[in-house]
Amino acid sequence: AKASGRNNYQFFKESMNLTAARHFELETSLRGALAAHEFELYFQPIMDIGTRRLHAMEVLLRWRRGGKDGKGGELVMPDQFIPIIEENGMIVPIGEWVIRQACKQSMLWHSQGMMPVPLAVNLSARQFMHRGLVESIRAILDDTGIDPALIEFEITETALMQHGEQTLEILGHINAMGIRLSIDDFGTGYSSLAYLKRFPVKKIKIDRAFIKDLEQSAEDRAIVAAIIALSHSLQLSVVAEGVETEGQYALLQRHGCQFAQGYLFSQPVPHATAQLLLPRC
Ligand code: C2E
Ligand code: CA
Ligand code: CA
Ligand code: CA
Repeated sequence: AKASGRNNYQFFKESMNLTAARHFELETSLRGALAAHEFELYFQPIMDIGTRRLHAMEVLLRWRRGGKDGKGGELVMPDQFIPIIEENGMIVPIGEWVIRQACKQSMLWHSQGMMPVPLAVNLSARQFMHRGLVESIRAILDDTGIDPALIEFEITETALMQHGEQTLEILGHINAMGIRLSIDDFGTGYSSLAYLKRFPVKKIKIDRAFIKDLEQSAEDRAIVAAIIALSHSLQLSVVAEGVETEGQYALLQRHGCQFAQGYLFSQPVPHATAQLLLPRC
């Protein structure tokens, strides 16, 4: 126990140093990343549990640091850079680029004869605080000509709760444009489905934390079953995140969960691979 304590301490110290230095280094090179075309969208299928068909795809941002237009460089994952750009405000222009790029990709697939599926784009709290969000979404819809029904936004409960009335107003505008909203990482925040009724939300995504041990933990099964049952009685559809095994899939199916996302079906993939998953018109 002593030895592992010392190892933990050393690990902690090194990761602290690494974090401070790396944070600075990353923040510096993030400044020019958008203009240098270093960002890239990945797509992860969300499956219909009943039919095992593709229902939608979640859009997940990647930073191809030092590369360009999807080639070369080092692929940096969101947990390494999203917190930095949320903190320094760069999430606003980068997040807008993500929405625009997702709409462009959807239109491009459609023009190539693919059947469009809804794309779910993540929005962080910081984007909500920005006054121009609604206007920039409107401009993106106009410029790309996308059917708003093909876009969904994922927002965490915590982000929803942060700004009360202002958030409610912004969500009202987004909803009026015909874009659907889902609650991301459900179960990790306040987890009040009753409270969610105040928001124009149609779907909730149960966090991976509750799915991970579904087969071993009777407690997690009870929680997940209760979330699904209550959601359905409130006319909310449910997506289970992080589904990795057939066992988890079978349990979710038995409890009446409609949608599932996770490595069991596919990891997030670049657009060229995602295209192969789309049915043709
Ligand atoms: P999230 O919205 O909860 O996205 C799901 C994350 O779980 C993704 O990580 C995905 O790769 C991962 N995942 C999916 N299925 C499985 C599975 O079966 N097992 C495991 N272990 N993991 C799975 P990723 O792509 O690294 O993204 C991490 C987070 O970064 C996202 O969590 C989201 O909060 C944020 N993020 C990603 N792209 C964007 C973006 O464009 N805008 C904003 N604001 N946030 C983003
Ligand atoms: Ca998400
Ligand atoms: Ca999530
Ligand atoms: Ca999550």
